Formats: sequence, C-alpha cells, structure tokens
Amino acid sequence: MSGHEQSYIAEAFRANWLTTAGANLDGFEREMSARLAGRHTLAVSSGTAALHLVLRYLGVGPGDRVAVSTLTFAGSVFPILYLGAEPVFVDSERQSWNLDPDVLESYLRDAARRDELPKALVLVHLYGQHADVDRIRALCDEFEVALVEDAAESLGATYKGRETGCTADFAILSFNGNKIITTTGGGMIVARSADAIRAMRKWAHQSREPAVEYVHEELGYNYRMSNVLAGIGRGQLTVLDERVAARRAVAARYRDALADIPGVALQPEAEWGTHSRWLSVLLFDPEERPVDPATLVLALEVDDIETRPVWRPMHTQPLFRHARRVGGEVAESLFASGLCLPSSSSLSAAAQDRVIDALRRALTGSLAAAR
Ligand SMILES: *Cc1c(COP(=O)(O)O)cnc(C)c1O
Repeated sequence: MSGHEQSYIAEAFRANWLTTAGANLDGFEREMSARLAGRHTLAVSSGTAALHLVLRYLGVGPGDRVAVSTLTFAGSVFPILYLGAEPVFVDSERQSWNLDPDVLESYLRDAARRDELPKALVLVHLYGQHADVDRIRALCDEFEVALVEDAAESLGATYKGRETGCTADFAILSFNGNKIITTTGGGMIVARSADAIRAMRKWAHQSREPAVEYVHEELGYNYRMSNVLAGIGRGQLTVLDERVAARRAVAARYRDALADIPGVALQPEAEWGTHSRWLSVLLFDPEERPVDPATLVLALEVDDIETRPVWRPMHTQPLFRHARRVGGEVAESLFASGLCLPSSSSLSAAAQDRVIDALRRALTGSLAAAR
C-alpha cells in the first residue's frame, strides 16, 4: 500500500457507501479513464471476470474458436471455456516473449482457407511488456477477428508512446494482490465504445432491468467491485508511475549484478515500448548455462527466497491436452530456461543483494557444475 488508500476508504465509511455504488467506484473508473486516453472503463471483481464479460460482448459462444497467447496465466484462457468456446494457443516470439505475428499470420491465412477463423484473439502483454500490437491488429482487421488486450500484467507499460490498455478496442486489467497495483482483488474493462461498457455494466450487476421489482431479460453475473476496494484502487493509481520506476530499478540492479555471468540475461526489452518490469525474469542460455529452473527454485527456497519458473505454456497443461495450438516451441523453451525473480516495488536494496548473492552462488557453484 502507498499510504494514500486510507483517506479514500475513510471517505467511503464516512458516507456509508460501502458496497457496489459510490464515489470511489466512479472516481476509480474516471481516473483510470483519464490515464488511458479517455477510454471508457468498468470496475469489476477480477481480471478473469472482465475477460469473461468482454468475450461475451464480442459474441463468443459454443463452437467458436478464440486464439490466445500460449505463454500466459490460466486467467487469460478460462473465460473462453466459461462460454463453451475452444482456445487455440499461439506461440511467442523471442524479442518480447509475446504472441508472434508471423505465426499468427500463417495461422489466420490457413484458418481462413478452411473456414475456421477464430472469433477473437486474446493478446497477452507478458510480465509487463507490450506485444507488437500494430502488426497483430492489422492481421485481426484483415481477417475480421476481434482483438482483446490482456493487460493484466502490463499496466504502466507503453507501446510506441501509447499506454497499455488502449492499443485495441478492448482491454482488461487486473488488480489482484500480485499485480503492479492492487485492490486486494479486482479488475477493469477498458473499451473504446461507451455502449459496450453500458451493456457489460448491466451484465456485471446481475442483468437487472431498470424496474422497481427485479426484472431480468438476460443472463447476468455478480461481478461488481465494492466502493471500499475501489478506494484502495484510487490510492494505488496515484503511485503507478512510482511503482513502474521502482520495478524498473529492481530489474536494472539484477541486470548489472549478473552481467559478468555468461549465459544469463533478463527478458529483453523490445524497442517498441517501455517494459514496466512487473516481474524481473531471467533467461538461461541452454548451451552456455544449462540450468533447470525448477532445481534453482528449490535451491533458493533453502535461503527463504521465493522464485518461480516462467508460466507453463497453456498447450502443455493437462486441462488443455486436446486443445489446438499453432507452434509452441518458443514458449516451451522460455519455460524450460526462465526464472521469475523477487520483483516487488518495495524490495529493499539489502533484500535484493541477498537474492543476488544466493543466485550467484547457485549459478556459479555446484548447481551449474552438476549439469
Ligand atoms: C492475473 C492475470 C489474469 C487474471 O486476473 P485476476 O484478477 O487474477 O482474475 C489474467 N491474465 C493474466 C496474464 C494475468 O497475469
């Protein structure tokens, strides 16, 4: 927390507007909209809920296909299943680790020939780095595939000078506890169209028609955010730029401190934008430094340091063993050789030094030699 949250929460208590309406909800949506090029916004209970509503708005239903980056968290994919549609997993490129436009192009050309085009594409901006959206957007326009940005991990990042969350017609954000700013749990829909937000707002509020008794013409969901949590979000939003700066400083320190170890590099920063470094992620060269990330996780755990492998690609998940995929080898190799490091904006220099020391010992000592 930044310290600014309490005043917004206190105001909600003072006004006795604590649940699903109030000044913090209006303010949070308005303030995020101001940050994101005036796009329309809707605060909801999670990023996953936000994606569910957007895909439904786009008409995704049983029998449809939805293309999605394979290197991501399950929250990018589960809403496709909620709607009875089928995911098609698309591989990454090595420059940003995000969805590969070349792979997408050959997939869409082939799918068009077979009349199997996906209805939508969920484009993930991984670990705080924006995908190469201009090319991807042009392909989606050509093949009439709706484009949704999954900006859950990238709030604060930019693409060619534009903020993440406003490079497509629809985007979703997450304020889960592990994200760069948090409401303890929550999400947001960002859309170019006010009509779209109006429709989704109704669905998120149990599809209540404007009548004194409860009238429902459509299926709805209880996906609302509370006015208390929106107050936390407002306080957090005031420090977003500081958080990005702090995370980038953490990444730069890791880079400098490990620069002399051959075969170890941070996730590259693509030339098209600013990486928020939501997470600092290392990649080991399989020739020069063949380290198994899972072994390293266990070795660091002994020193009470929590690290994680890169997201396990969705096409390798047991749940999706029968799903379609387009490529996947790049995502698999990033999973096989990548490690997510402690990256918090509040990580002290002393704590980070401890991580660096342990990493250096593990990488240059017995662990590396054993392989
Ligand atoms: C966190 C996350 C989500 C889901 O957000 P929740 O608020 O946790 O539901 C979706 N996609 C990605 C890439 C995420 O990292």
